[in-house]
Amino acid sequence: MGQCIFCGEKAGLFKREHAECRQKHEEGEKAVWALALKSTEDPQSLTSAVQEVEKISASAWLSKDRLKQLIVAAWEKGAEAAVDRGMLTREEESLLGKYAHDFRLTQDDLNLHSWQQRIAVAAALRDLDDGRFPDRCHLTGDLPFNLQPKERLAWLFHAVCYEQRTRTQYVGGSQGFSVRLAKGLYYRTSVFKGRPVVTSFMSQVGSGALGLTDKHIYFHSPQSAFRIAYAKIVAFDPFTDGIEIHQVAASAKPKVFVTGDGWSVYHLAAKLAQLA
Ligand SMILES: [Zn+2]
Repeated sequence: MGQCIFCGEKAGLFKREHAECRQKHEEGEKAVWALALKSTEDPQSLTSAVQEVEKISASAWLSKDRLKQLIVAAWEKGAEAAVDRGMLTREEESLLGKYAHDFRLTQDDLNLHSWQQRIAVAAALRDLDDGRFPDRCHLTGDLPFNLQPKERLAWLFHAVCYEQRTRTQYVGGSQGFSVRLAKGLYYRTSVFKGRPVVTSFMSQVGSGALGLTDKHIYFHSPQSAFRIAYAKIVAFDPFTDGIEIHQVAASAKPKVFVTGDGWSVYHLAAKLAQLA
């Protein structure tokens, strides 16, 4: 006689679950998802969300891992919705922060798909639109670049840099930089769905740190280190997982930086270049 994987009672010959228990379990998942999602947008829902979610989760036999998965996925959905509504407001930012705090989500949970970085960058873009230089990049170690006096770092990405060996024509994915984005107006994250940015026409320059300041784009890796002034950049091309930079000098080969999060690096670089 098999036991029900949910309630633990006898389930009958060759059976692993009761249909009612399966149904209760699935409804519980849906209820947790709906409540979690609502809590990313409605402060009122969030106040009782942790307790309610735990109650549902216990009665519907949700495992700790599954519950965590749903809570993190709902946070990501909420972050995506907030970023895609346009400029991230302070209220949206603080509610997402409170949600993460109340559900005890870790940095790793939040940045699983780079959403915490996008939220931080969206807030940095709001700072820049408000005429303030963002102070949101707090490093634990030393900065791998020597900034100029009074030069300020906006954000530091992990990046792999590639250089084009030959000029190639790009197809699809790219939005180009010909359209200047108005203040507070950003591409939706779903726009960033180009084909993978790295092609066989590129050679790897190095893997390291990409720093965006108010004056330059810096790159540092064990193999190579350089900086590019915004004034020397003609265009940025955004991709799902990074950006491509075209420089004024015809001799300078286009450089691709893969950060895993094209939305953030593209918008921040483009905004800083506009303001520089
Ligand atoms: Zn059962």
